Order: sequence, then C-alpha cells, then structure tokens
Amino acid sequence: MYRVRIAPSPSGNLHVGTARTALFNYLFAKKNNGQFILRIEDTDLERSDKEYIKNIFDSLKALGLNWDEGPDVGGDYGPYSQSERFDIYPEFAKKLVEAGFAYECFCTPEELEAEKELSAKNKQAYVYSGKCKNLSDEEKLKRQEEVPAIRFNVSKAQKAFHDSSELSFNDLVKGVLKQDTSLIGDFVIMKSNGTPTYNFAVVVDDMLMKISHIIRGEDHISNTFKQILIYEALGAQAPKFGHLGMILAPDRSKLSKRHGATAVSEFTEKGYLTEALVNFIALLGWSPSDGQEIKSVNEIAEDFRIHDVSSSNSIFEYDKLNWMNSQYIKKLDIETLKNALRPFLAQYDLSGLTDAQYTRMVEITREPLTILSDITNDVPYFFGDTVKVEPEVQAEVLDTETSRKVLREFYNDAQNWEFSEEALHEKLDEFRAKFKEQGIKPKETMWAIRAAVTGRTRGADITAVLAILGREKVLGRVNSELVNSA
Ligand code: GLU
Repeated sequence: MYRVRIAPSPSGNLHVGTARTALFNYLFAKKNNGQFILRIEDTDLERSDKEYIKNIFDSLKALGLNWDEGPDVGGDYGPYSQSERFDIYPEFAKKLVEAGFAYECFCTPEELEAEKELSAKNKQAYVYSGKCKNLSDEEKLKRQEEVPAIRFNVSKAQKAFHDSSELSFNDLVKGVLKQDTSLIGDFVIMKSNGTPTYNFAVVVDDMLMKISHIIRGEDHISNTFKQILIYEALGAQAPKFGHLGMILAPDRSKLSKRHGATAVSEFTEKGYLTEALVNFIALLGWSPSDGQEIKSVNEIAEDFRIHDVSSSNSIFEYDKLNWMNSQYIKKLDIETLKNALRPFLAQYDLSGLTDAQYTRMVEITREPLTILSDITNDVPYFFGDTVKVEPEVQAEVLDTETSRKVLREFYNDAQNWEFSEEALHEKLDEFRAKFKEQGIKPKETMWAIRAAVTGRTRGADITAVLAILGREKVLGRVNSELVNSA
C-alpha cells in the first residue's frame, strides 16, 4: 500500500507552497489507492503555535485535502504531532550510538561558534570538525555531568553501506541525484535538551508510519542525503523521494507577502473559491494530458502521474488565478453563490431584502466578479433610502439641464407605475421614446435615472435595480436629487 504524508511545521498559516505539496501527495495517494497522512512537525516548540495548527487543519479541509490518518482521524500509528512523540526518538538515537553510527557531542555553543567563525575567516563552507567523534572513555567520564547532543557519524554510515563517498538516489521527479557525502559534516540528531532535530524526527516518523513515498519541495534535497544515511544506519528501507520545483512570484523571486496573498486562508478571506484555488495550485508543476485546465480534484487525480510533474520552478501567476476564479464563480449555482457572498455583504442590511430580491441582486451583479469580495463595492446602492453620488457623476451627468428635465418628468410619470421588471420594461420604453422625440438620446435618459438612483454611471441592469428598490426608494432618491441641486 502506498502511503504518503504532508508534514507541515506550524510556524505560519498554511502557505500555498505547502498546499501544493499536500495536493500532489493527496493526488498521488488517490491515483494509487494509497493513504494520505497528516503529521504536524512541531519539534521546534518555540516556533510552533496552536493557532497555526488550527489554520493548517482548516485550510487543508477547505481545499478538500482530507487526510486518512492524522489528527482527529485516528489510525494505527499513534499521535501525529511530533511534540507528542518526544519519548520515541531517544531510543532510536541510542540504537545508533550503540551501533557506532552516532556519538555524543559535548561541544558548547561557544566552541561551535568559534569553529564557524574560523571557517568563515578561511572562506570555507562550515562542517563540524568532528572534535567529539573519538572521545576516550576517560574524557567522557570527565564530562559526565554535562548533557551531550548526539551527532550522526556521516562517514561511518557512508562507508558501511557504499563503496565510495558518493551517495545517489533516483528522484521520482528529478531523476538521479548525487552528493559527495564527505562534504556533509556530522550533524546533530538529538539536541542536548532532549528534542530531536528535523532530519532525525522525520526519518523515525516516516519509518514508523511506513511512508512509502516522500513528495516535497526541492529545498529538502540536501536533507534527503542525510536522511537516506539515517535509514540505512537504522537498518530500514528508505522510501522513494520526489522533489518538486519551487513556486516563484511573477518577478521570479521567492513568493512572499509583498507579491500578494500567500496563505490559503488569505485567499479564501479575499473571496477566492477553494475549488478554483486547488485547481490553480495543481497546475503549478503539473499539466493535464488533454490540455483542459479547468478540472475538479477528482478529475485531476485520475490524470495525475508523479513522473509527469515538471522538475523546474513554477510561477504563481496571480492574474491567471483571478481568471480561473472568475470562471468558477460563473459556474456556481445561484443558491451556492448567494451563500458564498454573504460574508462579503456583512456591512449591508440583507434582512431588508426578500429572498427573491436578494436572488435577483446576485443574478444581476455576478457577471463581473473576479473574487467574491468584489461584490462589496458593487452593491451599496441596493441598500438604504439615500444614495451616495460620486462627485464626477454629479457634475458630468446630474447637473446637466437634460438630466434635470428627465428626472423631473420621471418623478411625475413614475408615481403610478408598477415597479415589476416586466412593467418597467414597457414604461421605460415609452419614457425613452418620449424624450427621443425631443432629441434626447435613450442612453442619456437612462444615464440620468441610473445616476440619480445608484450614484454611478455604470452597474447592474437598471430595470432590475429599479424593481428591486421599489417605487418608494427610487422616487425618494430622485426627489432628493431634484431638491438638493435645485
Ligand atoms: N516540516 C518540514 C517542512 O515543513 C517537512 C519537510 C518534509 O516533508 O520532510 O518543510
């Protein structure tokens, strides 16, 4: 059985990059009838935050990336937060020490700092000197009061399992990758405070959780060599690895806040639909075999092959996401859209509209929406007795002699009109025709009415707007325009 995992560190809200990694693991599991596991990597307690853990859960669920095992779901492999597994790691470290693949290191932070400074001075990449590698029993006895860190003995493991200092593996995405392990210094696997480092905890967990494939960002490639050696030293079979290219901003720098939203929750708060977001994220490194980019996660899973994933970096094109989101909004059925828009209409009194009026308002304002939050600025004129008129609209449209004439007559004529859309169509036709005879273009007639009633020169279907507002509000607004600028 294929088993994959997403192992986020809760040091921030779920980033779109992590969401992409989660998605590719999820797709791989789905395609191969495997299992997708969530594990929270919170060994660094200082940088971990419960808020972020909740954000990670909520964001993955919102994207539909439900995990088969992990927090809340149970499963056979125990708690899925590393901080709840702190008692597991020392026994494996002990095993490595006993087998000679790891050793106690008593170096103080000051000593290590001095080593680093020396390498920097000599313009060399820093590797640990190996000072504690061969401490005599006598020396160890002298320092028995101190709590040592534990370091992995890289050269010992390399020699035990390989003929030369080269270590290679066949990456599912990038092909064969190699590293000269003599350039890797002996690294710490257990800190002196008793907590495991990332490279060690991840191997112990992936081994115990029987993870078969590790799909993650290429920034982890250098860790992978270290991890393979740990698997070998523990006598375990290393999983298969696939490393994904990075996600870059349109300017090809690292995607960051200055480019726009980066966390899944930021996107959803702005009114991106999770279906659009997950579809867009899938295209960061993967392309559909039929060229048809708009697809559901299930359709993508059918078509997904890890070997087809591009090994190069992908660009996070906000414009493309916007386009895709607008396409998804267009496809939403009206009831779903009405509900999805509610949070973005919180500042308006929706209770003043009947359900039929709200439905009609959404029908006539949905077309230009790119993100759901666009609605907020598109609909203020549907609410309240009065309307705020933009200054240019006042000057350029309402203050003209023609508009004033149109509005005066509209105010008089419409007193007896029925304000249903059907009736208004007919009445407005007649009304425009009357002015046309006087040389006033139908467009000008309607501009005057729209400007007085909505405060704008553009917007939703005006006949529908008038019907939703009703006679009283419409004539009230027209009247105050006539009175105010008299
Ligand atoms: N906690 C690591 C991260 O968030 C996980 C890396 C891995 O998948 O091994 O980058």
